[in-house]
Amino acid sequence: MSSHQNSLMRSTEPPIDMLPVEDAVERILSFCQQLSPETRAIDDAVGQVLATDITAPFDIPPHDNTAMDGYAVQSASTTGASEANPVRLRVIGELAAGYLYEQSVGPGEAVRIMTGAPMPDGADTIVPFEETDEEGLRAPGQAHAVIEDVGILKAAGPGNNIRRRGEDVRQGQQVLDAGTVLRGPEVAVLASLGVAEVQVIRRPQVAILSTGDELLTPGEAPAPGKIYDSNSYGLSALVTQYGGLPRRFGIAQDTIPALTAKINEALASCDLIITSAGVSRGDFDVVKEVLAREGAIDFWTVRMKPGKPLAFGEFAAPNGRRVPHIGLPGNPVSSLLAFELFGRLAIYQMMGRQPQPRPILRAIADDDIVNTDWRRVYARATLNQADDGRWHARLTGPQGSGVLTSMALANGYAVCPEDQERIQAGEECDVIMVDWDHPLD
Ligand code: AMP
Ligand code: MG
Repeated sequence: MSSHQNSLMRSTEPPIDMLPVEDAVERILSFCQQLSPETRAIDDAVGQVLATDITAPFDIPPHDNTAMDGYAVQSASTTGASEANPVRLRVIGELAAGYLYEQSVGPGEAVRIMTGAPMPDGADTIVPFEETDEEGLRAPGQAHAVIEDVGILKAAGPGNNIRRRGEDVRQGQQVLDAGTVLRGPEVAVLASLGVAEVQVIRRPQVAILSTGDELLTPGEAPAPGKIYDSNSYGLSALVTQYGGLPRRFGIAQDTIPALTAKINEALASCDLIITSAGVSRGDFDVVKEVLAREGAIDFWTVRMKPGKPLAFGEFAAPNGRRVPHIGLPGNPVSSLLAFELFGRLAIYQMMGRQPQPRPILRAIADDDIVNTDWRRVYARATLNQADDGRWHARLTGPQGSGVLTSMALANGYAVCPEDQERIQAGEECDVIMVDWDHPLD
């Protein structure tokens, strides 16, 4: 770590005015209600949460059917069959998946059958092609030669290669519970039940609002003293990633009337308001002021680094709805990291998902992580597994709260606890696994 961090003095007393991270999470979640259900096509509902239980209207599979391409026969017809002495059966028909065989299979008879086709009456076993001499009977390249009889090379026991009616799902069975998050497999189960639309908890409309006279919108020409608004874009991407519907309301100038007007615009349609910047102690930090005047502040400042100046509260919308407001810090790293810790869980709770923390991996810190003022430090890190199988967390360069690229390079946040002055390189630490599937270098 840099020498200037080593030389920073740590105060002897922990702060009393900052809210611990867990308390901040709890308070934010206590303001976030689960939203109402909506009807959606199943292929449009991935990531959403079922609002009702789903019960099977029929058995799956609906019929006994063959698990192999082969011949449907009576097992008794195959007694004594071997490669040396094949039993010859008369082929009385062919059956593809999707059709029913109208007649019945008798002794000495076989129906040529394809995977998924319902079992013909009379047959009680399937002899796969591999256990017949069919290949030898067919001229090369002739896929559909008419086969009049087939040699069975191996005796087949009753029930072989049959998928039983209802072996997956029974009629009347509760297949999916209300509260289930729909992923690919759940969507497939719904489709297998013939369900085209489901009731799911709707996604929150999340208003995203940047504040600051210095901000330009990407696409605008650069100008002296100005910087581009990165927060609202990063936040809107994260809202999408976590399942919400981002609604960007642009940039508010640092005045109370400008911000109040934007907030009122957002309140008309949104379930959650996210602002960035304007929550420190500076002269133009108007976000807290507007929240206090127009709504109510629940807390301000969290015991974390980065991300300490965070204002949280709620506004009353014109129709009486109460809309929570997370006033994130302006520094880009603080803003995105605080959203990851608090905003993600707020969205989950509104969508009916369990607001669970990310998994933690124990890893060896490859760099010192310094804690100067009794806050919980979240250091941006890359996780790598060494040859000995142990995980290592390497910091992604300078850790200033304005160093946005330190976030972009990270797939984990290494944590130095509030009451610990530093984690020495070589010591173990907790690492929050943020994007487990983000490529490691
Ligand atoms: P503030 O909380 O308003 O004092 O802002 C803290 C720092 O974050 C300042 O350096 C701002 O210029 C910067 N900042 C504020 N909003 C944004 C934004 N939307 N995108 C990028 N940086 C920002
Ligand atoms: Mg500002």
